[in-house]
This record gives sequence, C-alpha cells and structure tokens, in this order.
Amino acid sequence: MRECEKLAKCQFFDGSLPRMPLTAEAIRQTFCLGDYTGCARFQVDNAGKLAPPDLFPNQRGRIPSLLRTQDRTHARQQAEPDVS
Ligand code: SF4
Repeated sequence: MRECEKLAKCQFFDGSLPRMPLTAEAIRQTFCLGDYTGCARFQVDNAGKLAPPDLFPNQRGRIPSLLRTQDRTHARQQAEPDVS
C-alpha cells in the first residue's frame, strides 16, 4: 500500500507524541505507511471536517461525535453570522 497522501501536512506528528518517539514510529508504520484508510484522522479529513490535534489514528470511535459536533458548529455559524 502507498503512504498516506496527507502525511506531509498531517498535524498529528507536530506535537501529539514528542516524548513517545517509539509510539509515534509505530503509528506511522501501522497507519501512515500501512493501512491509512483505517486512520481516524484520514477519515475525518476525508469527510471534509477538521481532525483535532489530539485525535489518534486508532480512535475511530470518536469519528461520529466529531462529525456531529462540527455539523452543529457549522450550522450555528450559519445561523449567527459574524458581524464584526
Ligand atoms: S496520522 Fe492518519 S491522516 Fe495523518 S498521515 Fe498518518 S494516516 Fe494520514
């Protein structure tokens, strides 16, 4: 499998695991250079939403609530336009 197309710009490795380099490398091998389509961050991003910095690739259980929360935020922003 090819590497994840989002690897060059993925924020997960910028600050989530600075003190756990072995864990970061294991995640990179498993998801980024392996089954990236199974990555929670990949799936949220592909749904057109923002993946929070603390979303780990193996936290697919968080995806439904992240998508619902961001939908509500987007709907509220449309209902209450910024007038500043
Ligand atoms: S953490 Fe997920 S979205 Fe980021 S580069 Fe790795 S596989 Fe892609």
